[in-house]
Amino acid sequence: MTTQTKNSILIIGGGLLGLTIAYEFARNDFKVSVLSKNRSDSAGFVAAGMLATHAEGLENELLKFGQQSQSLIPEWINNIEKDSGINCGLKKCGIVVPFRNIEDLEKFPTFQYGRYLNQKDLQIEINGINSIWKHGLLFEQDGQIDNRRRLMRALERACSLRGVKFQEGSEVQDLKIEKNKITGVKVLCATGELKKINCEKAILCGGAWSKKIFNRIPVFPVKGQMLSIQGPTNVLKRIIFGPKTYLVPRDDGLIVVGATVEKDSKFSKGNTPNGINQLQEGIRSLLPEAINWPQMEHWWGFRPCTPDLKPILGKSNIENLFLATGHYRNGVLFSAITSDLIVKLVQNKTLEEIEKNFLEKFSLDRFEI
Ligand SMILES: Cc1cc2nc3c(=O)[nH]c(=O)nc-3n(C[C@H](O)[C@H](O)[C@H](O)COP(=O)(O)OP(=O)(O)OC[C@H]3O[C@@H](n4cnc5c(N)ncnc54)[C@H](O)[C@@H]3O)c2cc1C
Repeated sequence: MTTQTKNSILIIGGGLLGLTIAYEFARNDFKVSVLSKNRSDSAGFVAAGMLATHAEGLENELLKFGQQSQSLIPEWINNIEKDSGINCGLKKCGIVVPFRNIEDLEKFPTFQYGRYLNQKDLQIEINGINSIWKHGLLFEQDGQIDNRRRLMRALERACSLRGVKFQEGSEVQDLKIEKNKITGVKVLCATGELKKINCEKAILCGGAWSKKIFNRIPVFPVKGQMLSIQGPTNVLKRIIFGPKTYLVPRDDGLIVVGATVEKDSKFSKGNTPNGINQLQEGIRSLLPEAINWPQMEHWWGFRPCTPDLKPILGKSNIENLFLATGHYRNGVLFSAITSDLIVKLVQNKTLEEIEKNFLEKFSLDRFEI
């Protein structure tokens, strides 16, 4: 009798994309190892969890990418929930984008996908919305996942139960490249020990830190500060997505409020008085009564941004090193399609035209011409 050895894969970075991709490989019977510097740094524990393809006003291939990912999300979440036993809080709750004037509404890139709301309809959808908002678009197809309290933990659990090995506290310091192939990585372990870990194939999922790991990747951090308030249960049924602030209601009345967009922040840690003030101003401008609801937590994190705000996916110039980074504001939304594409690519599966097109548009090569 012959025993078949499993293909093995090394995931660099145990954040949202690292876990999602690790899980997909494990489901496809790969032997998977994840090296993670610090799980709590991950933007996956920071994000608001909105699935806001239309409310974000995505355009062109990003819009298609978001729509395609949204179509995969129910089955993706169903698998994670079945494996982990944890409900991930997926809800197609709809997102309302309010406008002060009709001209802005008509210019909104995804205008045609939304349902028009006049001021009376807006009040019905968002009870207590500030009267400065005269019009709105309701995107019923958009929604949310509770990434912070549920999805990340569900992914960790589902991965472990499928045999994924985690090395937490392992900082990848260098990639070992020989004859244009990655043979392993140099790792600083939590114990202070430096060691080399060999690999057959690797996926780089270093989030905002990706450039520190592989210098050719033009990813930089964009800091986002967030806070949460506790409202009465069911006080908001839709997400409100204002120009600078959004309010994301969870089932238990917790409302996640986001987020600052700080392009020059580098990796500066912590919440700031300015950041918190901006969020409070945002709450006041959207839902005035909510400013009196108790504040629960505040936190921050780093979005992995690229010069053209699009992700970097697929092959690198190193034969057996693949990339999944730069998901900027939409990593939760794009997780399902990213993991699906990367696993298919590594397995050399036949791709549909639209999938080939995504890989072409989001390839690292676009920055190197
Ligand atoms: C404030 C904010 C709000 C957001 N809201 C939303 C939203 O509503 N909807 C949405 O879809 N997306 C949202 N996002 C975006 C989403 O969170 C990110 O796009 C996504 O988390 C990126 O996943 P990632 O795995 O690439 O990075 P991360 O989740 O940040 O993970 C990267 C991991 O790599 C590890 N790492 C770094 N360097 C090394 C190294 N040298 N060696 C080993 N490991 C390393 C880090 O420790 C980290 O755990 C938001 C992000 C922020 C910051």
